[in-house]
Amino acid sequence: MELQITSKENEYFRQKIQLSSVEYYSDFPWRSTGNMWHALVAEVMLQRTKAEQVEPVYRAFSKLYPAPEDYLNDEGAHVFESLGLHWREKQLEKLANEISENGIPVNKEDLMNMAGIGSYIAAAFRSLHLGRRDVIIDSNVVRIYGRFFGFETDGETRRKGWFIDLADQLTPPRSFKKYNYGLIDFTRTICKPDPACNSCQLYRKCKYG
Ligand code: SF4
Repeated sequence: MELQITSKENEYFRQKIQLSSVEYYSDFPWRSTGNMWHALVAEVMLQRTKAEQVEPVYRAFSKLYPAPEDYLNDEGAHVFESLGLHWREKQLEKLANEISENGIPVNKEDLMNMAGIGSYIAAAFRSLHLGRRDVIIDSNVVRIYGRFFGFETDGETRRKGWFIDLADQLTPPRSFKKYNYGLIDFTRTICKPDPACNSCQLYRKCKYG
């Protein structure tokens, strides 16, 4: 499949999402941290878990473990227990060891070679915390693009070349951080699985709406 979008559609979508980045922005604590260890672990916690559930866990974690070594020295650490993700504790231990030994890389491939870091976490971390342009793709992003531009999606859509090209085309070269936050917050509050089309600024041009 190939999907062509016009520059007008691109501009319209980008602008609306960037405006929503102001309107629906949530000031979660990991968004303003200067501690990259905390920021990276927050992105790991956020994968497949709602931000509201992550917030208290993140607050406790960041207070207890200012550095990866503090986490490694705590033999009874169970950061992921309250999120119901016990199996991630081993991954976090591995990740903390890697960061303690080699620091945190900025290169995407190097990040993706670390324990528990897939392409979404690497892209989110780079674009939201390191100021490097990167394209975020997860099920929420697939959902809003599919709805707005009017194409069918399934579990494989995110891996298709044409879809990755579309996401790349839509992500702005400079204001990518604002755009990515807009996507995250808009798909959490308005274009959620049960969409609030009546309150949506994209309604006029959305194929689904
Ligand atoms: S109109 Fe509805 S489906 Fe379209 S982007 Fe808005 S919330 Fe999503």
